[in-house]
Amino acid sequence: MKLLSCKNCGAPMVIEPSGATALCPYCRSKYVLDHSDTDYYRDFYEHMRGFFALSKNAQERRARADELWKNASEEIFECLDGRRIDVRSLHMHSDKEAAVYTARQNVIFRFEPMNTPNADKFRAAVSSLDYPSADTKSLSDFFPVISGGYRLADGAALLAVKKSEDEYPLRLFGRLGGRHAAWIVSRLENLCCVLEYNSLVHTELGIDSVYINPYDHTASLYGGWHRVVRNNTALEGRVRTTRDNLISLRETAAAVLGFSKRAEVRASDELPQPFADFLKGTPESNAYDDFALWDDVLIKSYGERRFMTMDTDDEQIYGKR
Ligand SMILES: [Zn+2]
Repeated sequence: MKLLSCKNCGAPMVIEPSGATALCPYCRSKYVLDHSDTDYYRDFYEHMRGFFALSKNAQERRARADELWKNASEEIFECLDGRRIDVRSLHMHSDKEAAVYTARQNVIFRFEPMNTPNADKFRAAVSSLDYPSADTKSLSDFFPVISGGYRLADGAALLAVKKSEDEYPLRLFGRLGGRHAAWIVSRLENLCCVLEYNSLVHTELGIDSVYINPYDHTASLYGGWHRVVRNNTALEGRVRTTRDNLISLRETAAAVLGFSKRAEVRASDELPQPFADFLKGTPESNAYDDFALWDDVLIKSYGERRFMTMDTDDEQIYGKR
């Protein structure tokens, strides 16, 4: 995906899921995109959403992915020990603390020289994760596994996290409809239960830290682990609790639906009232209860979930559109 840089400070901007506006994470400038950029992002998102409709046919998937990766950009990082790391990425996202590259098999985090302690924080948070014993196997697949760490010649630190080829940042899909947002909320509730179990507040849960696999309808929380804090920690003048994870979950779903804030969510033909109310409302006090609340909202919004096989598409899961 092509990057736009801020006219004010030159930093790479983040494109809103609507494809109509861009925001600079550094100086907070907001831009309305011009016609050609808007068309570009709409086409890009359309292409990404096309992945939802692809069959389980491995060849077909690979061909589509190869086509996508043809446009990957390349950056070479020089290590302190003289090695060179060639990163081909589909997308780069940058905030004040890290530049994040989406490569084919990894997510690469580059911490500036002054921010290298964050690479250690990231590692420590990830290695502290514990899973409820009953679902150890499945849940740990959706959290980072660190595949490498490097010190660069310029003093920066590089951290590589494994990802499956078919996982992409949620932001790359642009705006999605209610039924897609619904399965994403279900997966995020799962992830929030793990955070709850570990008494952690993930202050960066959002469309840049969550990666989805559009074929398998899974979501992984790969980004922002250097910003994770313990439950009841004061951060930037506010005490963070695990309920903040559930607020982030709602903000993420609102963003996926094309709203810039959850307060602006409105029910529509494609967003049932109970779902809209859930996104605007107050979360339960913990993720387990919130998941139960969501299950109820899901049934009220789309009816009983049907038994599904792995290759069932979204329409079959939730009934006819
Ligand atoms: Zn700027």
